[in-house]
Amino acid sequence: MFWDQESETLSRPALEALQLQRLQQTVSRLAARVPFYQQKFAELGVGPDDIRRLEDVRRLPFTTAADLRAIYPSGLLAVEADEPVRLHTSSGTTGKPKAIFFSRNDVNTAADMIARSLVAAGITRADVFQNMMSYGLFTGGLVMHYGAERVGCLVIPAGPGTSERQLMLMQDFGTTAVHILPSYALYFANYLEQKGIDPRKDLKLRKAFVGAEPHTEQTRKRIEEAFGVDVYNSYGLTEMNGPGVAFECEQKAGMHLWEDCFLLEIIDPATGEPLPDGQRGELVLTTLKREAMPILRYRTRDITSVIAEPCPCGRTHRRIHRITGRSDDMLIIRGVNIFPQQIEQVLMSMPQVGRNYLIIVEGLDDLTVKVELSDRGFDGQVEHLAALQNQLVEKLKAEIWVRPKVDLVPPGSLPVAEGKAKRVLDKRSL
Ligand code: ADP
Ligand code: ZN
Repeated sequence: MFWDQESETLSRPALEALQLQRLQQTVSRLAARVPFYQQKFAELGVGPDDIRRLEDVRRLPFTTAADLRAIYPSGLLAVEADEPVRLHTSSGTTGKPKAIFFSRNDVNTAADMIARSLVAAGITRADVFQNMMSYGLFTGGLVMHYGAERVGCLVIPAGPGTSERQLMLMQDFGTTAVHILPSYALYFANYLEQKGIDPRKDLKLRKAFVGAEPHTEQTRKRIEEAFGVDVYNSYGLTEMNGPGVAFECEQKAGMHLWEDCFLLEIIDPATGEPLPDGQRGELVLTTLKREAMPILRYRTRDITSVIAEPCPCGRTHRRIHRITGRSDDMLIIRGVNIFPQQIEQVLMSMPQVGRNYLIIVEGLDDLTVKVELSDRGFDGQVEHLAALQNQLVEKLKAEIWVRPKVDLVPPGSLPVAEGKAKRVLDKRSL
């Protein structure tokens, strides 16, 4: 099933010709209207006439999160000041947020990308779509909402309310699909278990869209098993409209990145040099259809690689692999580079491990992993606890090459964040 079959299955040459045309238009607009880019173009000695082939994108300047913070709150408007109709900001974990402006067409384009994505995962107008992400400045609420509405679903703007209310809405309105943070999905699974609710029998859920934070394949499997649903990975970032940048189709094997809207590059984060398909590096995105605030070569800091092989679903837009981490999430412990996802992967593959964990780094690079036990997977015998603890230490050591301390804690005892999960507490920087 397709939302927009023609656009989604364009031949590669046609898609690339469209990309080039849109890139040229974007660069021309920026050169004519946006002082920030005018200055960067002047420094690099490039202009719209230099963009003759797609590879010429490499002559253009990068844009960084720091650039966007520095120009906050004014944005990089390429339209008249009264043109934008919507503002979102990124949650801004450090320092000032980044403000992103949308024109009416931008709002429509974002909704279309979501509609494509949901339909690619088998959503139809018959679905009841409960959006459990925060509404407000965060794009996971409104942007996803507009897209699901466009498909024709009954959309329930539940927001991140209490688990009790989420459950009530699911039961009362027969929710079939949810949009949810992976960390909250695991927490909600615990809640249902405590309430004695069996989602397979008591709810109508069939699909869950999870994203907005990194998670592993093991976490996907856990969510699928807990709820009896298909889980689809959804990637996006505020700077590029929010959700709907890249999305899994029914194959669940990598996320199609909508290449008629975004030009994709993978670079070596250290040198900025391009990397070939298949090689892991930093995702860099250029908006191709944005009116209000086009952005060139945005350094997402997200680490992934391109899957060049065509997808059996027939969509020609290339896929990216699950994000393995954000370059700024990388921990350096005793000289070794570690991504929190490596730890999650080990933990979530063990049935005795519950659904929450916390990574603590302190002192002289001491790594502690606090791990919740699962209710059912463990019998409470002390010697079994000690054995499990040792097993986890060894498995983690084999994965990350650093020997951590492992603390086993009771189910439900670790803190749960309001929004995106905070998995790492690095006390070295405090
Ligand atoms: P903030 O940058 O403040 O966290 P955003 O909501 O814009 O606010 O977050 C976007 C970021 O969230 C992405 O750059 C990426 O790091 C992360 N993210 C979003 N979706 C996924 C996903 N499916 N898998 C992994 N990480 C994701
Ligand atoms: Zn596909």
